[in-house]
Amino acid sequence: MKITMPKGVTAILEKLKQNGFEAYIVGGCVRDMILSRLPQDWDITTNALPDQVKSLFDRTYDTGIKHGTVTVRLFDTNWEVTTYRSDGLYEDFRHPNEVFFTDSLSEDLKRRDFTINAIAYNPKTGFVDEHMGIEDIKKRIIRCVNDPDERFGEDALRMLRALRFSGQLGFEIEEKTCTAIAKNAPLIAHVSAERIKEELDKLIVSDNVKVFGKLWDTGLMEYISEDIFAAGKDCAADLGKLPRDKILRWAQILKFTKDPRSELKRLRYDNKSANLIIFLCANEKTPIPADKYGIRKALSKWGEDKFRLLTEFRFSEDFSEVNSLLDEILRDGDCISLKQLALNGRDLESIGIPKGEALGKALACLLDEVHKNPELNNKEKLLPIAEYFIKK
Ligand code: ATP
Ligand code: MG
Repeated sequence: MKITMPKGVTAILEKLKQNGFEAYIVGGCVRDMILSRLPQDWDITTNALPDQVKSLFDRTYDTGIKHGTVTVRLFDTNWEVTTYRSDGLYEDFRHPNEVFFTDSLSEDLKRRDFTINAIAYNPKTGFVDEHMGIEDIKKRIIRCVNDPDERFGEDALRMLRALRFSGQLGFEIEEKTCTAIAKNAPLIAHVSAERIKEELDKLIVSDNVKVFGKLWDTGLMEYISEDIFAAGKDCAADLGKLPRDKILRWAQILKFTKDPRSELKRLRYDNKSANLIIFLCANEKTPIPADKYGIRKALSKWGEDKFRLLTEFRFSEDFSEVNSLLDEILRDGDCISLKQLALNGRDLESIGIPKGEALGKALACLLDEVHKNPELNNKEKLLPIAEYFIKK
């Protein structure tokens, strides 16, 4: 098994070692290296206390100091170095009341969620794998470190993390761990909407998105959202047919709910994404025009991005013809919006159309004419048409 670390990580491990401390990479990065996946981030764990870490490096930041994490800036990159920790009692089903620094790597590994995330490594010692994480990676299973029932009772977010890793890695959730999720599912209600959204966003675009259905099998969805729960597990059946995009996939789920907008609000979705998702849900059945005039009109109403998104969303329909007409329209630079119209409000005023409603109407009529026939989009041709409208 080959572990190649970035030079910043190697340098930090080396420096800590030279100064008499233990230091390892740990967690997701070790798991991902074993799986030949690219790690999201590199976590370093050490028995050096935060102040000792800070004294060894020129540039450090205290971002996570409360939990023992010092950010070390090296080679233009931030690296997180965390002192070995053990957690105190958990009282709110999410956060430990206190964290204790310890000089025992074993203690630190014990507090971690899953065996596959509880492996430490450094080049000198090799792997420290006290919970059979490597074997579980080989068997492709997600298993809690120690008693799953207790671990989910401490921190309910771990249940969603289990499903998310199952989706991302294609691993099965081990039987006892799965049973404990079903038993502790109601505790997910104690987790903040932001953290739930973060995990669901990762799960919904994962390689094995069918795991999303497990939110119903385990009972978690009932406590995450009543409305999505009521839509039923089948609403997740077609997720894999859509591109791996969270907007498209959320719309696919929420189109089955009574009120997508309030669900998105509850999940603290940002306005821009929420509006796109709502747009897709609202236009799930809107006829999509198949001729150039209709496409130009739809483009002026929705804009190119939404138009394309909607055709991707409606995966069971064939839009290849529509898309080639759309490409042609854009390539030819056809007039789509009032901004591109060769006439503006002032031109119309100069021929006697009064400001206000009449002018707005006249511009809209002219734009419609140009949508029908883009060649009309020049002043000489449009002015007479405008005059004709006045007389009408
Ligand atoms: P990702 O690839 O998404 O970064 P990760 O396993 O690195 O996955 P992080 O959230 O970055 O996950 O956390 C780093 C490590 O910290 C985990 O591998 C795990 O050992 C530990 N950890 C994170 N969250 C928890 C938790 N809620 N309970 C216990 N241990 C946790
Ligand atoms: Mg990580």
